[in-house]
Amino acid sequence: MSSNGQCKGCSDEYRVTDEQIDRILAAPMFSSGISVPDEVYERRLAQCGACPKLQFGTTCAVCGCFVRIAAKYKDRACPLPGGSRWAKHA
Ligand code: SF4
Repeated sequence: MSSNGQCKGCSDEYRVTDEQIDRILAAPMFSSGISVPDEVYERRLAQCGACPKLQFGTTCAVCGCFVRIAAKYKDRACPLPGGSRWAKHA
């Protein structure tokens, strides 16, 4: 924890850029069977984009994940308590 009691990953100085996330998503593992089809990915990101839990345009305040990365995984579901906005993809 930082000295102001806020999670380091949620403070301004630890923001991650789109370019950094692009580099992560370029890894071969995201071209494998672990990823959802593009249309599912785009639907998930649209849900995150309209969600009040999205912080800095990148980060889910519920799980702390970068949504552009979390939404890639077939076996992930939105963690919003009381009403997941996107489900695991079979
Ligand atoms: S709670 Fe769900 S929809 Fe909202 S930002 Fe997190 S993963 Fe996305």
